[in-house]
Amino acid sequence: MKGNEIAALMDEPACQHNNKSKSGCSAPKPGATAGGCAFDGAQITLLPIADVAHVVHGPIGCAGSSWDNRGSRSSGPQLFRLGFTTDLSEQDVIMGKGERRLFHGIRQLVERYHPAAVFVYNTCVPAMEGDDIDAICRLTSERLGLPVIGVDAAGFYGSKNLGNRIAGDVMVDKVVGQREPAPWPEDAAIPADRGHSIALIGEYNIAGEFWHVLPLLDELGVRVLCTLSGDARFAEVQTMHRSELNMLVCSRAQINVARKLEERYGTPWFEGSFYGVRDMSDALRCIATMLGDSDLLARTEALIAREEARVDRLLAEFRPRLQGKRVLLYTGGVKSWSVVSALQDLGMVVVASGTRKSTEEDKARIRELMGEDAILLDEGNPRQLLDTVYQQKADMMIAGGRNMFTAYKARLPFLDVNQEREHAFAGYDGMVELARQICLTLESPIWAQSRSKAPWQGATQMTGG
Ligand code: SF4
Repeated sequence: MKGNEIAALMDEPACQHNNKSKSGCSAPKPGATAGGCAFDGAQITLLPIADVAHVVHGPIGCAGSSWDNRGSRSSGPQLFRLGFTTDLSEQDVIMGKGERRLFHGIRQLVERYHPAAVFVYNTCVPAMEGDDIDAICRLTSERLGLPVIGVDAAGFYGSKNLGNRIAGDVMVDKVVGQREPAPWPEDAAIPADRGHSIALIGEYNIAGEFWHVLPLLDELGVRVLCTLSGDARFAEVQTMHRSELNMLVCSRAQINVARKLEERYGTPWFEGSFYGVRDMSDALRCIATMLGDSDLLARTEALIAREEARVDRLLAEFRPRLQGKRVLLYTGGVKSWSVVSALQDLGMVVVASGTRKSTEEDKARIRELMGEDAILLDEGNPRQLLDTVYQQKADMMIAGGRNMFTAYKARLPFLDVNQEREHAFAGYDGMVELARQICLTLESPIWAQSRSKAPWQGATQMTGG
């Protein structure tokens, strides 16, 4: 990838904070975990496309460091969960054998696994060596008769976020627009003439949570052509140009995709979230409104009323147990504001929210939800997190797996809401699951036990910290 192409990706006109100083873009600081490299970002963006063979061209460490580390689920093929790599060794580099290994590797896996397509991820070593992965992709594609697509996002090109954007760009440039969608399903609840087709960008179906949302869209006659990339198939990505509306589920990662699809195909887009009752209803309402279909809007309002009433009944069991509980939230990017809103829906008090990966717009939304005096944590080192917990008398921490041991060592109830989480929190049913998991976490007897002295030391309670 050329320097000017990388610079163009860094200069995202659809980002509202793009014209001022890049205060919304987090710079890595010494001592803090900086997140993955560009290759890592590209791979996690595309890995959930389930029927594609994802090949990492590079030393085995690159594949090992990011393979399958998101809990994306597939309702069909599981090929995406197999790790393929050319496993370049020192000898391969010295003897210039990288391209040959890649060619034979692709041929071998296609003969054995028959994928719908092959994605080849470039990494630092072959990029510095000058391997022409595009030429190998063209050659193997011609010889083997299937799409072989190079994703040139070597780690040293930049941040994980840049990798997300490169991956999205590759999909728009090389995949979208190559196939027409399948005919409208005959058994659909709504006939084709009243139906609509949309696409979601940045929805990864972590822990299968999109399956909480999909049945509702099916019921409304809104077909999801593609999710880019949770539970997606290669053929679905090829049809994204036929979407009437795109919903951007994770703004930082894929905003360039939404913008480019609008420029090329005129597809309008909006940013929304499926976390929390309020945001879920808003997202459904926004889809119906932007599709400009009054019949759909009326049916959507009826569905929202029904679902909100149902969820309200289901949450009744949890609300008194969660009312007024104080929580420190430390998660990244767009999720912060949507999780703040979800927790407030449950009657909880968010005492502070992490904003390390948030844009200026994300921060403004958090302030709007939490008030002007909201504590926004730009730094998430363990000392600062725990100091905030003690000062604000937080009852629990909700964060990513990286902070799990910080909380556990402080004997503090902890729930993982990031990409490695095991529970599906999106949609109305996801809200009930979130409430259940918070209750299970807060009410676990382990916290009282871990704060007590051992029986032979007397029954005095230890203080936290
Ligand atoms: S920085 Fe380079 S070598 Fe390291 S994991 Fe990323 S691509 Fe591989």
